[in-house]
Amino acid sequence: MVDGLAAGLSAVIGDAARVLTAPAVVDRLSHDFYWYSPVLRPLLVGKMGEVVVQPVDAAEVLAVLRYARERGVAVTTRGAGTGNYGQCVPLEGGIVLDLSRMDKLEEITADGVAVCQPGVRLGALETEARKVGWELRCYPSTLVKASVGGFLGGGSGGIGSVAHGGLRDFDTVRAFEVATMEDEPRIVLHEGKAVHEILHAWGTNGVLTRIWFALTPAVEWTQMTLAFDTFEKAFWFTESVAVDPGWTKRLATVFEWPIPSFFTPVKQVVREGKALALIMIASSQVEDLRTAAEKCGAEVTFTGTFEGPRTQPLLSDYTWNHTTLWAMKADPAYTYLQCGFSPTECREQFAKLREKFGQEILFHIEFMKNGEGVVIPGAIPVVRFVSEERLNEMIDYCRAIGVFVANPHVNYLEDAGRFRADNIQLRAKEKYDPLGLLNPGKMISFRKSGESVKVATT
Ligand SMILES: Cc1cc2nc3c(=O)[nH]c(=O)nc-3n(C[C@H](O)[C@H](O)[C@H](O)COP(=O)(O)OP(=O)(O)OC[C@H]3O[C@@H](n4cnc5c(N)ncnc54)[C@H](O)[C@@H]3O)c2cc1C
Repeated sequence: MVDGLAAGLSAVIGDAARVLTAPAVVDRLSHDFYWYSPVLRPLLVGKMGEVVVQPVDAAEVLAVLRYARERGVAVTTRGAGTGNYGQCVPLEGGIVLDLSRMDKLEEITADGVAVCQPGVRLGALETEARKVGWELRCYPSTLVKASVGGFLGGGSGGIGSVAHGGLRDFDTVRAFEVATMEDEPRIVLHEGKAVHEILHAWGTNGVLTRIWFALTPAVEWTQMTLAFDTFEKAFWFTESVAVDPGWTKRLATVFEWPIPSFFTPVKQVVREGKALALIMIASSQVEDLRTAAEKCGAEVTFTGTFEGPRTQPLLSDYTWNHTTLWAMKADPAYTYLQCGFSPTECREQFAKLREKFGQEILFHIEFMKNGEGVVIPGAIPVVRFVSEERLNEMIDYCRAIGVFVANPHVNYLEDAGRFRADNIQLRAKEKYDPLGLLNPGKMISFRKSGESVKVATT
């Protein structure tokens, strides 16, 4: 089967060197950071595709999809494999469509839109954009490795979201071309609101082959860390910066103690027993921010300019989902949740969670703007893993007290937080992938054509 598939795909793209079958390579390219979750780890460890194919352009993607469609073979698309829900782990074998060689940046338009292939790395795009006066509106903390297509397929937001919202907000994703898995696969342009039919659908309803991604004018940034006696003070100060449009910021993060103790490579910015705030601020406002922070009793423990993705130390490496990585390095019993607290009731919500779960949950806040323009305390709390039941109890309790949870311990879209309640991703799958061959098993409300389709509720 593998040999037949490999030979067929080699003929289809005319280059056997870009069809990979070595089991160790196929295994590696079949996995992402799913092991972050102690629940997903045992479920996904042995799952893998049969063969990896690496197209270089949209015509080759279409040829691969056509070949797979004719034979009923599953296709799982992969960018850089940094997803943390096992999004690109094939559940039904088949073909891993590795887009890392589709990495051409076509142009950055005069009005600040990057036009690119999906395999362009976000770090490379940030570097190129800064050369011509632009920068990414938002990016994940996996900036250096992650691809633009993978970010649109599986990500949501990150550094920059405090000012520009997430990927689905404010027309950041202007348009893209999508390769379909219809009877006769084709390329379809989605622009404006129609991008939401495919955005964050984990490659289950089409393959992005060309992307129009809006940028924002570049700013000279400084990374700053502030130590506060308590989490409450750190939270209050950082919130005041995050919500005030007078501060130009790219990142506003708060960690309660002992989370900063996990950041061993930058221990010089950490103060024993203290909460830490990490802010990326316009360099022109550094002294004003220092004065404001010191008035609130903070110690400024570090300032350093941001020189692009290769900056050392790159403090975003300790934020967003990277925080969890440092916690797990310190103690493998840690895991995490992805939450959105209420901007008005978060203090009560923090208190309730502390009362019920004590130090089983440690607060890590990432301020971000939502689609209505309100800055809210997003959070990726570090959680001590006791059992799946206890984790679910915590998730249920969060939801009961009004805390939004995107559950990172499931491997399907519907419960993982960004599935659209209006079902437009599902409808697109019915249209573009009626046989259910694209990343099968990840959109569980989908039923193959002719059968009934459950309407999603989240
Ligand atoms: C340490 C760590 C920190 C992280 N921090 C963040 C963060 O701050 N914010 C955030 O949003 N995420 C974060 N993530 C998750 C992940 O890194 C990002 O979402 C990243 O953008 C994924 O890009 P990728 O190229 O690695 O995608 P992959 O993991 O390869 O793919 C992600 C999903 O998109 C699909 N896909 C890939 N390419 C395409 C395409 N061309 N067309 C259609 N579907 C496609 C895949 O099938 C898969 O379902 C983090 C993960 C880790 C491990």
